[in-house]
Amino acid sequence: VSRESHKHDSIINIGGTLLGGAKVQVIGGPCSVETQEQMDVAAQHVSDTGCKLMRGGAFKPRTSPYTFQGNGEEGLRMFRKAADKYNLRIVTELMDARMLDTFMKYDVDVIQIGTRSMQNFELLKEVGRINKPVILKRGMSATISEWLMAAEYIAAGGNHNIIFCERGIRTFETAYRNVMDVTCIPVLKKETHMPVIVDPSHAGGKTWMVPALARAAIAAGADGLLVEMHPNPCEAWCDADQALNPQEFASLMGSLRGIAEVI
Ligand code: PEP
Ligand code: MN
Repeated sequence: VSRESHKHDSIINIGGTLLGGAKVQVIGGPCSVETQEQMDVAAQHVSDTGCKLMRGGAFKPRTSPYTFQGNGEEGLRMFRKAADKYNLRIVTELMDARMLDTFMKYDVDVIQIGTRSMQNFELLKEVGRINKPVILKRGMSATISEWLMAAEYIAAGGNHNIIFCERGIRTFETAYRNVMDVTCIPVLKKETHMPVIVDPSHAGGKTWMVPALARAAIAAGADGLLVEMHPNPCEAWCDADQALNPQEFASLMGSLRGIAEVI
């Protein structure tokens, strides 16, 4: 993934939607797939803002085993159905390589590797063997060089469709969920030719922080954003505190257009 051997910026083709290059892409959607209705409404709002890519987790890496773990395969089915209605590409997290065939069955467009899996090397090798775009989130305590090496595990298998995603790192600070490392954006852009996106939702952890963090990421040169948006954040089954409602999401899209060319 190094720039040494590859000078120009790589652009990842996600079913006809390009990530990287001149335009900023925004991936919006709920933390997790809850119900068909929730996904239908969310997809409609994502599509209304002009976005082509939607997020939603069917397999959730929850801190506690006693909380909602995601709807699993049924969640993928609901997600695919909602996304197809609005011609959206889908982004969803893979935690276990044994689910890859199921991901293929529902034609998942982008496989997300979560922060907790960044150094699950066997999982990285498996997604390296297929030809699907992969969003590789930064481990919550990973250095940039560890992150780059994790990407090498994917690339070594032949899959060069890798998108780096900064989602905040752990520090001593407790006023927000994680520290969004803006500094990593120019560093990664220098070190790798792959696109770099930022997830301001899991960084700040609070809805009101998300727009400011999102704008900072784009101003610093990120190629896109991964943003949690829920039709009714107060009722979200997961990460309710950080989800934007549809109006807030639309207004964020408007303010980003003042900084960069979006979609
Ligand atoms: C998510 O995107 O919903 C998620 C679980 O993110 P992370 O792996 O960054 O915590
Ligand atoms: Mn989440």
